[in-house]
Parts: sequence; structure tokens; C-alpha cells
Amino acid sequence: MASIPEFFGSNVFDEKVMRERLPKSVFKALTATVQNGTELDRTVASVIANAMKDWAVEKGVTHFTHWFQPMTGITAEKHDSFISPQSAGEVIMEFSGKELIKGEPDASSFPSGGLRATFEARGYTAWDPTSPAFIKDGILCIPTVFLSYSGEVLDKKTPLLRSMEAVSKQAVRVLKLFGENTARVITTVGPEQEYFLVPKELFDKRKDLVYTGRTLFGAPSPKGQELEDQYFGTIRPCVAAYMADLNEELWKLGILAKTQHNEVAPAQHELAPIFGNTNIATDHNQLTMEVMKKVAEKHDLVCLLHEKPFAGVNGSGKHNNWSISTAEGSNLLDPSDKPYENLRFLLFLAAVIEAVDEHQDLLRVSVATAANDHRLGANEAPPAVISMFLGDELTSVLEAISSGNAYIPAASVKMSSGVDAVPDFKKDTTDRNRTSPFAFTGNKFEFRMLGSSNSISEANIVLNTTVADVLAKFADSLERAADFESAAKALIKDTIAEHERIIFNGNNYAPEWLDEAAKRGLLNLRTAADAYPYFESAENIALFGRHGIFTEAEVKSRTEIMLEGYSKTIRIEALTASEMAQKDILPAAIAYSNTLVKAAKGKAKLNIGAKTEIALIEEIGDLLDAFADAKAKLDNAVDALDALEEASAQANYCRDVLLPALAALRETGDQIEPLLARDALPYPTYGDLLFY
Ligand code: ADP
Ligand code: MG
Repeated sequence: MASIPEFFGSNVFDEKVMRERLPKSVFKALTATVQNGTELDRTVASVIANAMKDWAVEKGVTHFTHWFQPMTGITAEKHDSFISPQSAGEVIMEFSGKELIKGEPDASSFPSGGLRATFEARGYTAWDPTSPAFIKDGILCIPTVFLSYSGEVLDKKTPLLRSMEAVSKQAVRVLKLFGENTARVITTVGPEQEYFLVPKELFDKRKDLVYTGRTLFGAPSPKGQELEDQYFGTIRPCVAAYMADLNEELWKLGILAKTQHNEVAPAQHELAPIFGNTNIATDHNQLTMEVMKKVAEKHDLVCLLHEKPFAGVNGSGKHNNWSISTAEGSNLLDPSDKPYENLRFLLFLAAVIEAVDEHQDLLRVSVATAANDHRLGANEAPPAVISMFLGDELTSVLEAISSGNAYIPAASVKMSSGVDAVPDFKKDTTDRNRTSPFAFTGNKFEFRMLGSSNSISEANIVLNTTVADVLAKFADSLERAADFESAAKALIKDTIAEHERIIFNGNNYAPEWLDEAAKRGLLNLRTAADAYPYFESAENIALFGRHGIFTEAEVKSRTEIMLEGYSKTIRIEALTASEMAQKDILPAAIAYSNTLVKAAKGKAKLNIGAKTEIALIEEIGDLLDAFADAKAKLDNAVDALDALEEASAQANYCRDVLLPALAALRETGDQIEPLLARDALPYPTYGDLLFY
């Protein structure tokens, strides 16, 4: 087998391949586009297309696709073969510059939130040369943006790219004031991805997992996560084999898969790549999720990316590690040894603090889904209230700035284990805080509210845009200042004073925090349905408009898509639970109860008492009646939902009526399950799924 450095990126049309296969001038033109965002000449595209095709065909590829990210949250592709008919019934393999640059998929069946009627079907995909093409399952995939015929954005990549440009433009202005002339600033992201693995054979027997990705019934197993023996525990061989295979597939795609470990819940794991440019990191995270699922099937496993597949044990999230750096790679959130004296760092830090405080609503919306509502605030993930953790050192730096006092750095502390053979080492200046939704972790911020199945684009569109907005304001005021340094210091001081309330270094899981947060005036948007309407507030429409991210119509359409997605998800859950109740749980409980009845009758014939059987028959019987009632209520609620017209009314109804009805049905179902004999159970239990 080839070594990792040899096969890494072997399925990517990356810089190395381009250098080998493209004429120098073409390679240069493309590099300029990738690095500086300059426009690419059409004739150049033809040369690139041809080289891509030759490279792909040599690897056995027959088709290409424009690979895009519609509002479904997953990726989309439609394959076209390279064949082109010639005279005498022959074909050649061809791929033109035009085909590389533009595709015309029928856009009518993708979510558009009312932006287009179905008769206006035309949509365009357009090549994003800043993210490299790759081969996946024998198909050449071209990363593209996706627009409607009239130019409205229908995807998640276009606004992300726009937000990257916005933040670059404003950060470059600020850096110029420091005397730094950098052409471009990029944001960087490293997403840590959590997931569950369960045996495929068991998964297939559970319609809730098949249709909704989460269990809608299931009594807790005798053992859960209470022994805390799973986190960082030894990885069982079948999972280790999966991880090895997964890494290899990701590495071939040029994805820098780096860290892997067992997570807190049984059967839960995590994968983290090395960070990179946000646009590419987003493409890579979409690919990672897809590859995780595919590789699992090869191992007779199923990879669950749902935020809460199992009640009672932790769900899965995704930590979005985010920073901002110059194109040359200088991290603007690196505090250096002396953060107190590092004006550039402090100014960018202040910008992020203001952005987060001012736009709590947008950050909350960016992670809001029906699925993520099950985790946020459930003592396993941050609450729905946004706050920032800065740590002791930075907090004292900022306190010194806002009070005007001198900052006295804490002396560096040596750690010693007390064992001579173990080398001493330097202690970090700040402990970690696992409960904060938005934590400063050394030289980056870690936004921890994302759900495991979320596309990371929304969160980063919001981060990039809101930080761009604050930087623009900073640049406006500092460009006018007579003395830059003192003006910058004053600006930092004022910003910290004004936005102090967003900083919280304590325990975000504590119930007292919610009261304190309310006193501070921080938003607490408990559910996704509560959060979505904020997206289309007048302020947010203006913000997105100012930076050319979304038009008003696009903001409104996105709000509609989110609301609809929420209601549809919960409606599917309700229908699935109802079907399982009717087809699995009721028949299983009735059949088991019948065996008990037969046993009791048999005993009666022999004049033997059947106290245990009769008690169980009665207990099951009572629960079955309650269960049938709860099912009828749920069914009625679905009918009532379907009678509503407005997307927001439907979402609110799902939150207020459907979800509680679903929970009530589950509660009774989960009381019936433990009463049944093991071989009478209607589906695999939590124990079967989690402890395989
Ligand atoms: P932990 O679980 O301790 O938070 P991990 O090592 O699992 O840490 O993940 C940290 C992530 O942060 C990695 O993906 C890493 O590449 C990423 N990261 C490090 N520096 C930066 C940066 N400057 N910008 C964005 N992400 C970063
Ligand atoms: Mg982390």
C-alpha cells in the first residue's frame, strides 16, 4: 500500500496536479484567482477543463458533476458523462470550459422559500475555482454556487463566499491603519464532528432511525453514560477499523483528518480535521459527513449524525473553531506573549466581542434546527443563551483596559507531577470552559452550539458578516482619527465597556446563569421556532444588505425555508411515531398480553393461581389504553397542523402542540417496552443499539 503522503489528496485536482498539467500562464492565472479573487478569463477555463478531464479519465472517471449545496443542508449532484458523439458513430471524451464554468440544473425541486414558482425552473450552478475539484465515487466533482434564473441565491456557498469577501475587505482596511498592506484576509475554521455508530442490521429494524435519524421511542438501558468510561476510552476493534478506513478515504480527498476519539455517550465518537480556509473547510465538512455515512455501510454500521439520536445520553454537536488571519497566515486572534501590548490583537478581539453581543440573535438562528433544540440547554451542550468565555488572563487584560489600571501579568507557572521521571511543563494561563457557547481557546474562538448535522456555512456566514460589520465601523472611525494609536485604545476601551455583559466565564449549565443572563438583557431563544423570526428583522435585513450578502427577498425566503424545514421535520416525526405505535408497539404488546392470558387460563384450568400473569396483563392493558389515547391525540394534532397555512403558525403549532403530543406518546410507549419479554420486543432496544 502507498504511504499516506503518497496517496494524500490523490483524488483532488490540487495545486500539485495543476502545476504538473497546466501551462505556466494558466496555472498562474488560476492561482491569482484562488489567492486574490481576481476574475478568471474564459479561454483559461477551457484549458483547465481539458486538463481536469484528462486527469480524471486516467483515473477511470467517466462523468462529471457540478457539486453544490442547496438549502437542504446536504449536497446535490447530477452526473453528465464526458462522451461527445463524432462522425461514424464514434465518441470522444470531452469537457469544455463552458461546462466547467456553468451548469443549468432544473432548480424547481429545491427549497427556494417562495423565491421562485415551479414554472420558473431554470437555475444555474457556477464554478467556484477557490475550492479544488475532486473525484468521488468515480465522478469528477466541481464545487459550484447555485443561483436562480433571476440571480437569487439558492444555496449555502454563495453567501459564505460573499461573507468571506466582506470580512476581508473590512479587515484589510483596519490592517492598513496598522501599516500592514495585505491583499486579503481570510477566516479559518476547524470543525470538530461528533457522530454515533450503530449496527446496520439493528438500525434497519427501527423505522424512527430510518425516517428521522433519531429514536422516537426507547426505554433507557440499564447502563448509560454514568460511569464516564466511554470518553477517550479504548476504541473497540470494529470502530477502529471504521476510523482507519474513514481516514484513508478523507485523506484521498485532501481532507486533513487529524483527531479521533470516543465521546461521552456510548457508541459516540468524534473526528476533527486540521483547520483551513472557511470555504474549503465547509466543503470538506459536507464531504466528511457524506463519507462518514458511506464508509459506515461498508462496515455494516450506520453513522448517525442526528443531534439527538437517543434520549438520556448526550447528543452530538459540532464545534466550529473560527479565527481570522492574513492571506500570509498571520493569525489576527493570536494574543502573542503580551496580549496587553498587542493592539492589533485587542482590536480584533474587541470586534468579535461586539459582533457576538450585537448579533446574538443571528448566531442563535445559525444553529437553530428542530433537532438541535433537543441538545441546547440540556446539560450536555451550551444553553440557548449566547455568551463568551475569555478566560482569566484575557478577562483581566480587558478589565485593566476598561478601568484604566495597569495590567500585571500573572507569572508563568511550572507544573510538576511530583514524579522525577516525568518532565515539568509550563501551565496554561487559562483553564478550559466546556460549558461556554462561544469560548476563546488560545488563538481562536470555538462556537460550540452547532448541531452535528448542521452545515457549518450558516454559522460562518453570520460570524464573517457580523465581524465585517463591526470592523467597518472601526475602520470608519479610526481612519478619521488624528492619532491612530490613542484612538484605537479608546475604541477598544469603549467597546469592552459597552459589551461587557456578553462575557461570562462561569458555568453555563447552571440554572442561575439563565436568571443572571436575563438580568443582563441577553437573549434566550429557547427553540428554533422562537429564533427564526429574528432572522428577518429590519436590522438584519439592513446588515446583510450593507455587505452584499443577501437581499431582503433572500432573507425572507431563507426564513420561510427554515420555518418550513422545522415543521416538516416534526411532522415526519409525528407520522413515524404514530406508525410505530400502530404497527410495532400495539401489536407486540397485544401479542405478549395474549400469551399471558393463555398462560393464566391454563393455570386456572389446573386450579393454580396466576397472580403475576394477571397483574402484568392489567398493567399492560392500562398502559395500552393510555397509549391509544395519546396516539389519537397525536394524529389529531397532525390533522390540525395540516389545516394551518402560514409557515410561522405551523412552526409555532409544532412547538406548542405536536412536540408535546409526541413526547406524551413516547412516555407511555417507553413504559410498555420494559414490561415485554425480550423476544416479544417490537424493535431493538437502547441497550442493543448502544452496547453492541
Ligand atoms: P478540542 O477538542 O480540545 O477543542 P481539537 O484538537 O479536537 O480540540 O480541535 C480543535 C480544532 O481547532 C482543530 O480542528 C484545529 O485545527 C482548530 N484550530 C486550531 N487553530 C485554528 C485557527 N487559527 N482557526 C481555526 N481553527 C483552528
Ligand atoms: Mg473542542
